[in-house]
Amino acid sequence: MRPLRWWVVAAAAAGLALALEALPSVLRWLRAGRRRRPRREVLFFPSQVTCTEALLRAPGPAPAGGPCACSLPHGESALSRLLRALLGARASLELCLFAFSSPQLGRAVQLLHRRGVRVRVVTDCDYMALNGSQIGPLRRAGIQVRHDQELGYMHHKFAIVDRKLLITGSLNWTTQAIQNNRENVLIMEDEEYVRLFLEEFERIWEEFNPTKYTFFPQKKRSC
Ligand code: ZN
Repeated sequence: MRPLRWWVVAAAAAGLALALEALPSVLRWLRAGRRRRPRREVLFFPSQVTCTEALLRAPGPAPAGGPCACSLPHGESALSRLLRALLGARASLELCLFAFSSPQLGRAVQLLHRRGVRVRVVTDCDYMALNGSQIGPLRRAGIQVRHDQELGYMHHKFAIVDRKLLITGSLNWTTQAIQNNRENVLIMEDEEYVRLFLEEFERIWEEFNPTKYTFFPQKKRSC
């Protein structure tokens, strides 16, 4: 075997040095290419009334007769986009809601529960007792719900999907608000905000632990 010429060895060494030098920037470039923009969306209500059946249909064969034949429009709306954001949940959903009576949103939450998503709900004790509240059906479906026992309202309206997507704004989850009120809902993937809202959720979840309920409060309203 002929000995390697010195210039071949030198060229190889120089090539290797250059490659090592460039490696971090190449990796950075590759990572940046893969990183998609975090989700930032704002929904404005009132929402156009659209059919949400296709979104809320339980898994299984599509009903006979093909696409839905109801008379509502079947396009996108603020409500359908909100439903879509929630239905993206795969592992967990935290809900912190003053008022929850929208049947479509109730169905979406039950659907997630049936899919095995861990759902936890915190709500206000006054509103949950009203007619049409979704809280009863959610509890009967086996979803964990905790409520306040305070004079002040549990007035938050936020949701956290899979510990990475925050949904928050002025909207109460009622048909009245969805179809009639001017409201805004921010949907954002933001680690810092998700962490802060999750901390608030866990704080409230612990405060509303049923072991701490007093059933005959002295100076408070009854629930
Ligand atoms: Zn339809």
